[in-house]
Order: sequence, then structure tokens, then C-alpha cells
Amino acid sequence: MNTPENPTRIADDVVVSLDYTLTVENEVIDTSEGSEPIQFLQGYGNIIPGLERELYGMAAGERKEVVVTAADGYGEIDPDSFSDVPRSEFPPQIPMQVGIELQIKDKSGDILDARIDTVTADTVRLDFNHPLAGKQLNFSVHVVALRNPTPEELEHGHVHEPDHTH
Ligand code: ZN
Repeated sequence: MNTPENPTRIADDVVVSLDYTLTVENEVIDTSEGSEPIQFLQGYGNIIPGLERELYGMAAGERKEVVVTAADGYGEIDPDSFSDVPRSEFPPQIPMQVGIELQIKDKSGDILDARIDTVTADTVRLDFNHPLAGKQLNFSVHVVALRNPTPEELEHGHVHEPDHTH
């Protein structure tokens, strides 16, 4: 079936262009203002679930404030995602200060992002949780445009930017 018209409301299989501002604890964390809106295919988990769910039914041009709980955002803080490491294992040039962000290679060679959570005389506690874990996310969104996906985008489950090669 050939449907050349753009969709009028957000539903599964619709490509959404969205301007957004993400505020956490009254601080702007991320925004598309000043650059291009993000584009994504609705219904495929391309954006965080708590935001995607609230977008269904919105029309082009519409604005909305969306509150996403931690559980529907970056998850709750996982108490198992902390690790105590002897201070002696850190190179001396790394400042042993709470909040310092580090990249740690795990046993299988993957690079993990961590932050220094606590420092004692002998031990450094690293926090491997996402920095936004446990936080309520406040999105201010503006639906800029809606369009149908190409057959290839629909098959892949994501939007293809002009320079996209897979
Ligand atoms: Zn693709």
C-alpha cells in the first residue's frame, strides 16, 4: 500500500524528529536546542522507554513536559555496581577525588566508565552505575516533524542518516 502522506500522530513505525531538553535536578543535562532535532523510529526502543511511551499520539508541532522515573530511565542505582580497589592499583597521576571519572578495563578487556565514589586511606570505591541512574528525568519535548520510514529503515528498526552505511 502506498501512503505518501506524512503521518499525523506518533505511532509505531513512524520516524519522529524531536527537539528536547533534558533537565535533572534543575540542571540542563542535554538539549537539541542549537543543533538539529534528534530523529528516531518510534516503537523500537531507540530512545529511553519512559520517554518513548509518553510520545504515542502526539501530533507534529505539539509540545509536552514528560517526567520519567529512574526505573523507566537509566535504572535504579545498583548496589552491586560498586567495587573497592586498593589505592596502590591506581597510577599516581590520577587524582584520588570523589567524582573523578575514570575508564577501567575489565577482565575481558572491555572499557567501563566509572566514577570515584569514596576514598579512604587504603581503598577507592568505584561506582560503575550510569551517572543518571537513580535520577528522575524531566524532558521538555517538541515534535518537529513526522514521516514514514523507508522500507530499509523499517527492516533495520532505526533511522538512516544521509551518511549511514548499514
Ligand atoms: Zn541500518
